[in-house]
Amino acid sequence: MLQFQEISALQNFLWQKRKADKKIGFVPTMGALHEGHLSLIRLSKQENDVTVCSVFVNPTQFNNAEDLAKYPRTLEKDAQMLESVGCDVLFIPEVATMYPEKTTLQFHFGHLENVMEGKFRKGHFNGVALVVSKLFHIVQPHKAYFGQKDLQQFAIIRTLVQDLMFPLELVRCPIVREANGLAMSSRNQRLNRQEQEIASYLYKALQKAESMLESHSVKQIQKAVKEYLLHIGGIELEYFEVAEANTLQIIEDLSGFRGDVALCIAAYVSGVRLIDNLIVEKFGMLN
Ligand code: AMP
Repeated sequence: MLQFQEISALQNFLWQKRKADKKIGFVPTMGALHEGHLSLIRLSKQENDVTVCSVFVNPTQFNNAEDLAKYPRTLEKDAQMLESVGCDVLFIPEVATMYPEKTTLQFHFGHLENVMEGKFRKGHFNGVALVVSKLFHIVQPHKAYFGQKDLQQFAIIRTLVQDLMFPLELVRCPIVREANGLAMSSRNQRLNRQEQEIASYLYKALQKAESMLESHSVKQIQKAVKEYLLHIGGIELEYFEVAEANTLQIIEDLSGFRGDVALCIAAYVSGVRLIDNLIVEKFGMLN
């Protein structure tokens, strides 16, 4: 696997590949890699000739300095894991390389900024859009791979790609989970075993919500999820929302709704903020 820190060296390499008509797949990450990340790399390997993974802990998408400072950094292990799945290129720029000047550019994503992650992490998606735009310009991939784990981020990036006409195809990859159901996340490294067990109840809460979807109102489901997690203990719920799975418009009334429904949750376990979601496809359309 080749490693690049400098943009120009990476671009020279990729330019040669593109000239030879090679398809480039791109997986942007913030490192502290796990099986979830590797599933994206594997898919990119299947669908492209060259797979590029970036590891960059992007400071502009953190609205909490402590969260940024505590974000796990395990570059050596990351490189080994990427090597083990046959990743071709690792791009590991310095902060000064990605942000030579302080940027003032602002993105606006309409309602996506006012709900769930947008509402609770002010400025987060601006930082995501900024860094992903830079990375897309640098790598110029044919396909870029993102996880359903960050569902709202995917909606943001889809808007970015459509509105700015990035000539690439976005691929949404399924959530990879631990055996107990906990969605894999770099942040799980900050939890001990017992805390990870507690955190797995976020997924169980989503499953409970799914089982109630046909016969209960959104308000009833929200109340049940809240009470369920309160009963487990050790989980501080930030939000649980029912939304249309692509636009993430909040659904307040399910009666008459037809389509894919996303159940989205965010909560703190021992001070670590975790998110998860579950998509129920074709709700109301099967009978
Ligand atoms: P991150 O390093 O957290 O920024 O994540 C990099 C990419 O991996 C994003 O597109 C995430 O959505 C994706 N990802 C993170 N966790 C998982 C998971 N458990 N399963 C699948 N994809 C994931």
